[in-house]
Amino acid sequence: MRYEPVIGLELHIQLATASKLFSPSSATFGAEPNAHVNEIDLGFPGVLPVLNAQAVRFATLFGLAIGAEINPHAFFMRKNYFYPDLPKGYQISQLDDAIIRGGVVTVETADGVRKVRINRGQLEEDAGKSVHDAFPDRTGIDLNRAGVPLIELVSEPDLRSAAEAVAYMRQLHHLVRYLGISDGNMQEGSFRCDANVSIRAAGSDDLNPRVELKNINSFRFVEQAINLEIERQSDLMDSGKAVEQETRLFDPDRMETRTMRSKEEANDYRYFPDPDLLPLDLAPEWIEETRAMLPELPQARAERYRQDYGLDADAIQFILQMRDMADYYDTLTAACGDGKLAANWMQGEFARLYNEHAGSIKDIPLTAARFAGLLQRVQDNTISASAAKKLLPQLWAGDATADELIDAQGLRQVNDDGQIAAWVDEVIAAHPEQAAAYRAGQGKMLGFLTGQVLKRSQGQANPKTVNALLQEKLKA
Ligand code: ADP
Ligand code: MG
Repeated sequence: MRYEPVIGLELHIQLATASKLFSPSSATFGAEPNAHVNEIDLGFPGVLPVLNAQAVRFATLFGLAIGAEINPHAFFMRKNYFYPDLPKGYQISQLDDAIIRGGVVTVETADGVRKVRINRGQLEEDAGKSVHDAFPDRTGIDLNRAGVPLIELVSEPDLRSAAEAVAYMRQLHHLVRYLGISDGNMQEGSFRCDANVSIRAAGSDDLNPRVELKNINSFRFVEQAINLEIERQSDLMDSGKAVEQETRLFDPDRMETRTMRSKEEANDYRYFPDPDLLPLDLAPEWIEETRAMLPELPQARAERYRQDYGLDADAIQFILQMRDMADYYDTLTAACGDGKLAANWMQGEFARLYNEHAGSIKDIPLTAARFAGLLQRVQDNTISASAAKKLLPQLWAGDATADELIDAQGLRQVNDDGQIAAWVDEVIAAHPEQAAAYRAGQGKMLGFLTGQVLKRSQGQANPKTVNALLQEKLKA
């Protein structure tokens, strides 16, 4: 029997703040174990948490970017459980009164468009980490991560395939990096997900018992884990067995999911409002001030590029991969006045240099203004596109302008018809066999003869003029 998968994701997004959510300890990754820990993170008696304003700003920016409502009266709850990496015995989190409520994320896949409703986005602290491989006979605890700010974004169960789940995750991963609220580093755990999976008869509206797959930190693993789980549940249903609601672990080495624990309910955590923290009341003016900080969002920007410059999906994807890349493109386009030309050049030679020499836009020595200077000389026919392509690496590496390089190297294109006609005559005279072959119908000889004229001109003849004059003279 064919089943329809029903999938909801809980994304954990680490916010790029300098310090933790409720303490001044550093939130940076990669320090010696337990170097970024203070009394608040350790849950010493008598300490009081102090909310990090930047984390609230980031969460608000994110909520606004996904079209959600920002709750003006959010508050924090204690989620109580015991685990060695949680010294306080509770995690400060949010539940129904979370800071982000509602919203819709529209995801496109090869199979179509899916609107994924957002249930809520909680501002919460991360737990610490158990380290199992540092000692032969013990497990270590590293609390550097304890208290680091996260958004837990809970989607409604609106996704219908592993591919859609990955597309949803990729889109939000791009968005948080674009907004600069998270570094999105998946190896370091800054962006990870729990995937909830159930299946049902195709066409039914049932919500069947679901399995939660914990803490998956790569796009590939999300896809594999969900597909394995769909298969496992389908086999169970086919043989008339029930799917148990439980939490399972994905093991990429053995390509299987296995039981971690039977699923707990919210009641098990004895949630209650944290008495040490005031309600998170956000003034409407503050929310509007935050809205004004939002940059042009990726989807709107993509639409603008499509409409105004006729860019295709590949070009848009390349330019919008990072916000500062798109900013660079906008500056380049403004300076040369041709969005299509700017996109072609950025995807071509520029991309090659970028991949070879730069880790980020900040590392690029070539300013958009100097780049535009080169494109203008292509636009006004001063140099050919191929000469420009050769100049780009020099332009990239040094600080000369395009005009300086063109003059120094005598690259000005010859557009003078008389001069080009003379070269064409010389070439036809020097290659009578090829000229005859062309006249006899061997069209490809035109390419050879064009090449000869360009060579004779030392690459300076305008190729379009060469081509036109050759055809004209060979016809005669
Ligand atoms: P809990 O508090 O038990 O974690 P939530 O209501 O927060 O429950 O839901 C957790 C996640 O499970 C959400 O992302 C939601 O979309 C998803 N989910 C809920 N029911 C189902 C279901 N039947 N099948 C798949 N996913 C589901
Ligand atoms: Mg949950």
